[in-house]
Amino acid sequence: MTNAANHNDRAAWLQGPSAKCSSLPQAKAEPWRLVLLGPPGVGKGTQAALLTQQLGACHLSTGDVFRAARTQRDKAPSPAMAAALEYMSRGELVPDEIVWAMVRERITCLRCNGGYVLDGFPRTLAQADSLRKLLETERLRLDAVVNYVVPAEEIIARLSGRRTCINCKAIFHVSSQPSKIVGVCDKCGGRLYQREDDHPQSISVRLQAYERSTAPLIEFYKIRGLLVTVTATGSPQEVFQRTLMALDGRRKGQAKGQNIPAAINV
Ligand code: AMP
Repeated sequence: MTNAANHNDRAAWLQGPSAKCSSLPQAKAEPWRLVLLGPPGVGKGTQAALLTQQLGACHLSTGDVFRAARTQRDKAPSPAMAAALEYMSRGELVPDEIVWAMVRERITCLRCNGGYVLDGFPRTLAQADSLRKLLETERLRLDAVVNYVVPAEEIIARLSGRRTCINCKAIFHVSSQPSKIVGVCDKCGGRLYQREDDHPQSISVRLQAYERSTAPLIEFYKIRGLLVTVTATGSPQEVFQRTLMALDGRRKGQAKGQNIPAAINV
């Protein structure tokens, strides 16, 4: 597996297709194209950051696009984006049409030769089907869908203690991964804040939305032979190593032309 440092600022993804990325990931013969699945708080964002660094791919998070629109000072959000932000602050899913229009508009990111790790998208069967059709039309193969699992009781503790850097988006946790100075990012000195949708009232709405709308994607990808299940307990590094093992096993199996089982569990 490659280990390419990724300094891309993801401008085309975060701001839209008219923005240019600071540096494009290196083109690869076999770029990794992954989807990360799992309930809110399972650590998808942290794993996506580690994976994109390791694989030299781009971290495509739909949640980050919405958060970037919220903090953009020089430009008022479009009516669709303003509506999306309302849903988001309540912890509800943004309607499929808005999310899909946003992803479609960023199709160059899906075509990028560096590959990508989709984090937080798709989140409904309709989104998964739209993505499937688009990738088929574009003749782009999805390598795997990594489904992270943790016991339900851990999720709420993780979400309510999570703190995010307003500047570089690094993630901390008040008890399991505290910053050296309370409220200050270790990496860039930015202010740490609690995401609005990590407030208790939004957490339960988000967990219900996950069960109702996103959990069915596990079966959707299982029957298509793409699902890789990874236990997400332990440190971020432990989870990362499990993920790499699972992906490596999958690629080696593909290279040998083996039949990949419908689901791999690590
Ligand atoms: P995330 O950072 O992935 O947890 O996303 C934060 C919030 O953005 C979610 O709780 C939703 O309100 C919204 N969101 C992000 N991605 C999607 C999506 N694919 N479909 C619907 N809503 C989304």
